[in-house]
Amino acid sequence: MLAEPEIVPPHEAPLTEAEMRAAVAARDAGFDGCFVYAVRSTGVYCRPGCPSRAARPENLSFHAGPAEAEAAGFRPCRRCRPDAPALSERQAQTITRACRLIEAAETPPSLDALARASGLSPFHFHRIFKAVTGVTPAAYAQAHRAARAADSLAEGKSVTESIYAAGYGAPSRFYADGAERLGMSPSAYRKGGAGERIAFATGPCALGLVLVAATERGICAILLGDDADALRSDLAARFPKADLTEGDADFAATVADVVRLVAAPGGAFELPLDIGGTAFQQRVWQALRRIPAGTTATYAEIARAIGEPAAVRAVAMACGANALAVAIPCHRVVRSDGALSGYRWGTARKTALLAREGVKR
Ligand SMILES: [Zn+2]
Repeated sequence: MLAEPEIVPPHEAPLTEAEMRAAVAARDAGFDGCFVYAVRSTGVYCRPGCPSRAARPENLSFHAGPAEAEAAGFRPCRRCRPDAPALSERQAQTITRACRLIEAAETPPSLDALARASGLSPFHFHRIFKAVTGVTPAAYAQAHRAARAADSLAEGKSVTESIYAAGYGAPSRFYADGAERLGMSPSAYRKGGAGERIAFATGPCALGLVLVAATERGICAILLGDDADALRSDLAARFPKADLTEGDADFAATVADVVRLVAAPGGAFELPLDIGGTAFQQRVWQALRRIPAGTTATYAEIARAIGEPAAVRAVAMACGANALAVAIPCHRVVRSDGALSGYRWGTARKTALLAREGVKR
């Protein structure tokens, strides 16, 4: 197990007025999206990080978001635009589009081409890309090629074949940057669960069907869906080399525990988990397990919690790769504006899980 940085559980409790006053006094943009404040004397409301002149403390009031501030009769500040998506949100959208371009291209697009497509200067684009993803565009393209190689390895192609298929010129390049990003050596990944016996069973749960799978070490997959065959295919794709066998009568008790967890996602769950994934994914998933039930955290907060504040997009991808629904509560991660964002098993299930934990939306 890796040494982990100290993790501060995000959103442990709602902010107190004193904390909000301190954030406004410090113009702390880190609180943008958490609340807005309004100034009685001007009738305007602002983000916590607004650079405007400080208002007198006795004129301030605090509101959960733009809708509440406007319902109380305030209008948005023209300077910090608290009613518009945060700058970070807009930049994340721009960079997400650039990531899609990189992923779709056979050969990595040039920095100039990416910047042009994003409507930014190459210098500005490079800087924002790094801030959002934690890596440079070139490193992202390399990581994507590594991921493509991993996909074809999982499909059973030879290591060398996969390396060339992913666009690497020579195997040495792959080992130089691919293995590190995979978090394991290609030959280990190639096993895809080889030699592993995985028991699984599917049953009805509060959110449709649930497939539960376990190795000898613990539960390795909890997958939600509506179709038993599709769930089984998903399991087989995740562990292509494993020996998948239907769980026996004893395994029914494990499934029953998971069904209970799905019905009451805030409850205790004591069964051991067998968590795969890369070193980075494991850090993200451990941080997710520290989000208290009944609360939510943003991707940015998780990134900060694992000591990688710039790796917001990589955190979002690790959340999407989670194979242990509910037990690793990726459903507690929301966008910084409080919107739900996607969920591997459907936004309706995410909403239902949060509602069962008592999160009001
Ligand atoms: Zn303002």
